[in-house]
Amino acid sequence: MRRLAGRAVIAAYMEASPEVFMRFSNSFLDEIRDRVPISDVIGKRVTWDRKKTNASRGDYWACCPFHGEKSPSFHCEDRKGRYHCFGCGVSGDHFRFLTDLDGMAFPEAVQQIADLAGVAMPQPDVEAEKRDRQRIGLQDVMEVATQFFQDQLQTANGAKARAYLRDRGLTGRTIETFRLGYAPESLQCAEGVFGRKGRAEGSDRGLRSCRPWSRHSRFL
Ligand SMILES: [Zn+2]
Repeated sequence: MRRLAGRAVIAAYMEASPEVFMRFSNSFLDEIRDRVPISDVIGKRVTWDRKKTNASRGDYWACCPFHGEKSPSFHCEDRKGRYHCFGCGVSGDHFRFLTDLDGMAFPEAVQQIADLAGVAMPQPDVEAEKRDRQRIGLQDVMEVATQFFQDQLQTANGAKARAYLRDRGLTGRTIETFRLGYAPESLQCAEGVFGRKGRAEGSDRGLRSCRPWSRHSRFL
């Protein structure tokens, strides 16, 4: 998964559409890939080179649609269900071609191949998606919080805490390895980390507010 920093994680999480979390079984993906020759998918976007192509063997060549060229170095093999460009090095399968060339989302690419295969899309597993979404959200929230507290330790506010850690014999390397941080007394942490909008989110996901009278911020 692409790593985002700070509030961007929360924004991406909040804006992600349900389709992002749609899961497809490998057997379903294999089935639709097997039913559709990859040359049918790619052939809609390129013109096959007549000289180099041997259609009866499912062996196709074209000028690469991913980089400009005059002689064909883009190879597509139905037997393997793969393409590879010897010029720019791109390679992949049916789905990869559509997501990379057209910027299509993965579920959209799956939908298009399933249509060509004449196979109905599976019903989304709502419960599994919900679990995935919560798991991904929780990891991101914890990452943002960890970074926030690590940053706080390096600010002027964190000077006392840094001195305390030094007195305890902790080296900078240990602090970095174990990602130790500092929770400022004056901040309500969830709000400090995520802003007002994200506060409920942080709290829901186990990051409790730290209050001036509490000694620690709590994680799950
Ligand atoms: Zn290429």
